[in-house]
Amino acid sequence: MATVDYLSSTLEGVSVQDENFDSNAPFNKSKTLASSLSASQSRLKFPLQKIANNSTTSKPQHLTKITLPSQSAQSGSSLTALPRSSASESRPSDSSADPITQSIPTPPKAFHLGMFEIGKPLGKGKFGRVYLARTRSTGFVCALKVLHKSELQQGKVEKQVRREIEIQSNLAHPNVLRLYGHFHDSKRIFLILEFAGRGELYKHLRKAGKFAEPLAAQYIAQMASALKYLHKKHVIHRDIKPENILVGLHGEIKISDFGWSVHAPNNRRKTMCGTLDYLPPEMIRPGREENWYDEKVDLWSLGVLAYEFLVGEAPFEDTPVMTQRRIARGEMTIPTNLSAEARDLIKRLLVLDPEKRLALEEVERHPWILRHCVQSGK
Ligand code: ATP
Ligand code: MG
Repeated sequence: MATVDYLSSTLEGVSVQDENFDSNAPFNKSKTLASSLSASQSRLKFPLQKIANNSTTSKPQHLTKITLPSQSAQSGSSLTALPRSSASESRPSDSSADPITQSIPTPPKAFHLGMFEIGKPLGKGKFGRVYLARTRSTGFVCALKVLHKSELQQGKVEKQVRREIEIQSNLAHPNVLRLYGHFHDSKRIFLILEFAGRGELYKHLRKAGKFAEPLAAQYIAQMASALKYLHKKHVIHRDIKPENILVGLHGEIKISDFGWSVHAPNNRRKTMCGTLDYLPPEMIRPGREENWYDEKVDLWSLGVLAYEFLVGEAPFEDTPVMTQRRIARGEMTIPTNLSAEARDLIKRLLVLDPEKRLALEEVERHPWILRHCVQSGK
């Protein structure tokens, strides 16, 4: 049939098969990394793939261009916009039998692969591939992250992924990437994520070199708002950096990657993690009780982020040994071509004593932020 031929030719290299349909089908190892959609491409130009599924009738879907519902139209409706699967459809095996997923709370609605049409690959991470997808029933557009259990086990990151799912599925904020739900089969875990139409902030920063002050201030304000929300929920992100920030279709930023985040209700943590450049002094000092830290680590990282946005490189960038030494001493120079207000904000965040760092509320009220950000009136 013409539609089917068209689909198979245009979607070569994209294959996420429902194992219930064909358990021998290898997961496609295509290297294709499609670039993110630009704002002007909010109309999705590619046809979406009809995934092989035993619950599927052979009638090919009429696939035409679809208009991406605006993020705002989608936000908030999240789970309710995703359809409930019917009882007759094939189900993955019981989660309680699996070591990776056993302690992940069962989502209120059972999702499965057959509910989605899969589009182009959006990217590839250390452990997973991410595809553009939409639900068959409502056309809800999302990103589907596919993680292979064997790879997670090999990389010893099962705990990290479990934590990521537990934490992220309980968060709902415009500047935090939503995790609408998850499901799994015997080999893979699927995360149903909010689609961030403009991709990684890191790529935008590398392309631009650095951001102009108004844009940087708007990003920092959005970060402060997201971090305020996270900290109120006792979540410390611990891995704030441009690589972990995605950009929505309307240019709004979304914190993602909660693999290093922790739930910290009233207690302090002392695990070493994250990328050196963004680590605060209290996390790099060796051993001992004083090494404990709290949510103020994210304030330091916010200062590093502001610096990198405005300068184009991180403030302590050096050889690993030197970076560590310089962080411990707070040794950095802020270029004098930055405005006095921008320099002031950075200096007040990159403070060695965590208690003396500017609080998020103060970041939001800082003159540099006020100058560049239109207040919502709240
Ligand atoms: P790591 O494995 O270290 O976390 P990563 O963050 O790059 O690396 P993923 O989170 O698996 O890995 O994402 C891979 C890429 O897919 C991202 O870099 C991004 O370009 C793209 N991507 C991921 N999630 C989304 C999303 N929700 N919307 C749009 N693009 C996404
Ligand atoms: Mg990631």
